[in-house]
Amino acid sequence: MIHAEDAAVTYRNGVHGITGVTIDIDPGEFVFIVGSSGSGKSTFMKTLLKEVELSDGEIYVGGTDLRTIRHRELPYFRRKMGVVFQDFRLLPNKTVYENVAFAMRVTESAGRDIRRYVPAVLSMVGLAKKARAYPHQLSGGEQQRCSLARAIVNKPPLLLADEPTGNLDPDTAWEIMDLLEDINKTGTTVIIATHAKEIVDTMQQRVIALKNGRVIRDIQRGGYYDED
Ligand code: ADP
Ligand code: MG
Repeated sequence: MIHAEDAAVTYRNGVHGITGVTIDIDPGEFVFIVGSSGSGKSTFMKTLLKEVELSDGEIYVGGTDLRTIRHRELPYFRRKMGVVFQDFRLLPNKTVYENVAFAMRVTESAGRDIRRYVPAVLSMVGLAKKARAYPHQLSGGEQQRCSLARAIVNKPPLLLADEPTGNLDPDTAWEIMDLLEDINKTGTTVIIATHAKEIVDTMQQRVIALKNGRVIRDIQRGGYYDED
């Protein structure tokens, strides 16, 4: 699903976002990208979306070479990925239902599919009863459930979540992580950038640790600070 080799990003001001990053992620994996603030987690996630450009090395996402993908192909490429952020990024003037339906509309799904599939996804994330609510009427956890529903409604092979629990209290954070695990069990590759140490320690999944933009650890199953 992901093949990164010696990937490097240098921002215009000369700051190194990531350096020499080599990572392979298979379809269906569940992966935590961990590291303290400024370690390069978001930079790595953004390179996967081609929101930042590689300065060196190579990255393939689902077989697509990010160095050679054409500009006009980018929207189509990005639609194959579900993306979740710390700050939810819901459309404030649309209801929960409309926020999720909108994601299907932009991919030109048939109305009949939208009417059938949006309620199913809202039930999956536990928001069936909030379909008519607006984002400001929801708790943080509910907003993140809505943004998860939106991210998976088009059944993307890959889901990227950058600090998805960063704005949530611990109990709610756990609910969101459990949902991400459920989504992974349906076959979606899930990559989560986080510094939620307790959750990472408990879930015992693959952990890739970054420090100063470099991979300092990559273990198949373990906790935040575990060594091989
Ligand atoms: P993390 O998500 O792990 O906190 P980031 O990827 O956001 O780390 O940041 C990695 C490094 O790149 C930091 O030194 C940060 O200051 C720098 N950085 C991030 N975004 C930019 C940007 N747009 N311009 C310049 N430097 C940036
Ligand atoms: Mg970040």
